[in-house]
Amino acid sequence: MISTQVTPVTPKDAAAVILLRHNTNPRAPEVFLVRRSEKLAFLGGYHAFPGGQFDATDAEVAVANASDAETATAISCAARELFEETQVLVARGGEALTQGQRASLLDDLHAGRMSWPALLAHYELHLDANDFTFVGRWVTPPFSARRFDTWFFLVHSPPKQRAHISGDAELASGEFIAAGEAFASWQRSEIMAVPPTLHGLKTLSGGLTDDLVERFLSLPNTARAPVRRIEFRPNYICFPVRTPTKPPATHTNCYLIYNSRELLIIDPGSPYEDEQAALAASVDELLSEGRSLREIVITHVHPDHVGGVNALREHLRNRAPSGSVTVAAHRLTAEALGDVMGAIKIDRFIEDDEVITLAGEPEISLRAMHTPGHARGHLCFYEARTGTLVSGDNIVGLGSVLIDPPEGNMRDYLHSLERMRALPNLSVIFGGHGPAIANAYAKLDEYISHRLDREQKILAAVRHGAATPKEIVAQVYTDVSPKAHAMAERAALAHLEKLVEDGLVAESVLGRFVSPA
Ligand SMILES: [Zn+2]
Repeated sequence: MISTQVTPVTPKDAAAVILLRHNTNPRAPEVFLVRRSEKLAFLGGYHAFPGGQFDATDAEVAVANASDAETATAISCAARELFEETQVLVARGGEALTQGQRASLLDDLHAGRMSWPALLAHYELHLDANDFTFVGRWVTPPFSARRFDTWFFLVHSPPKQRAHISGDAELASGEFIAAGEAFASWQRSEIMAVPPTLHGLKTLSGGLTDDLVERFLSLPNTARAPVRRIEFRPNYICFPVRTPTKPPATHTNCYLIYNSRELLIIDPGSPYEDEQAALAASVDELLSEGRSLREIVITHVHPDHVGGVNALREHLRNRAPSGSVTVAAHRLTAEALGDVMGAIKIDRFIEDDEVITLAGEPEISLRAMHTPGHARGHLCFYEARTGTLVSGDNIVGLGSVLIDPPEGNMRDYLHSLERMRALPNLSVIFGGHGPAIANAYAKLDEYISHRLDREQKILAAVRHGAATPKEIVAQVYTDVSPKAHAMAERAALAHLEKLVEDGLVAESVLGRFVSPA
């Protein structure tokens, strides 16, 4: 609800390697794909190519045949990250090293006994740009808490080197897999990957043709053009739009859920004309391919989720003057919108357990769940076939969820979290902000235990004499920056209200919170 304009974080330089198996079948090339640990806060559970951020020393490595210093640094980073994560060393002069010698080199690097440039120099190893084919540079969209400007290189694995992930806490597993097979697995909604990974898999599945690099570079996104439509999962387009939202978020995710015949739009939240135009263009494109608009759905009342509803409705009406545009939400959202911003008209109410089924292929049936807590009329949508949950602001991909009474209610929120936790076969959560969450159950457990832990600490603080939200924040919210203390006090109040309802805390006539007599 805070309308401070926040600048998205600056992307950090990074490099990644699309590693092909030695002598792989050119018609069905195999590539080394890793799965990120479920425990990672950023893209936990995603499939990806090995890679990481530039290190300070990467620029000190000389790279033969590199076109410029920046490219050389990117290649040095790519080679180091590949070595660190997969034990594959792509360096001229390294052919004579045994597996054991490479392992001991890696040990020196990990332990910090030798820097990357010193290690290469010591063993007379040389990096050569001809071993690293540039296949694009992608920038993480500004909706993410962590952003990278990543150079991608296609690399043929040297003979006699076995790639395997090296006990890296960041990676759960890694193996060579036919790119086409991995892409098909994404198409079946079995794995999650970011756009450059999917583009790499899809491009490689066309085989190692003469025009391979051309096909890689055919997307403007490979030349750092902003990624607007993110299809983490087939048929679910995440379209982040800039909004006046709560930091650290700067964008709200609008979702365009489509199949062969229909399109459903969830939360067109931006009040800004440039963002509304970009969204409208994508909607037009999906409709021009022969789909019709099912309706616009609002998950909850907050301005950063409804700020673009009227503009989009107008745009769609002008596009097809005869057609009507339905806007749907929970009854309580409609009531709250009437209070707050009467200008948004809700045409249809969605109740708990209603199923919205899109006509066409594949079958997409979204079951509405009334999940109050963050907002009274909050709706989530669950698709059982693929285990997909569109969670609105109940679970988000960055930052934290504010429970601000009286619209917010902690008891309701915990109950809603438990309901979501009980969903079977949950494989992805699409939140109102930030990247999709591939480690769904781990994230829900983290949310639930975080709130219960907070509640216990607040109860202990009250028992030790803290009697107001301000005093509680000073004692308990030690992890929150002073700038966010006003918001933390609202959250503390939500916890206190629940503790009062539970009979564990009493509110005095003067509004102080104390242990019950
Ligand atoms: Zn919200």
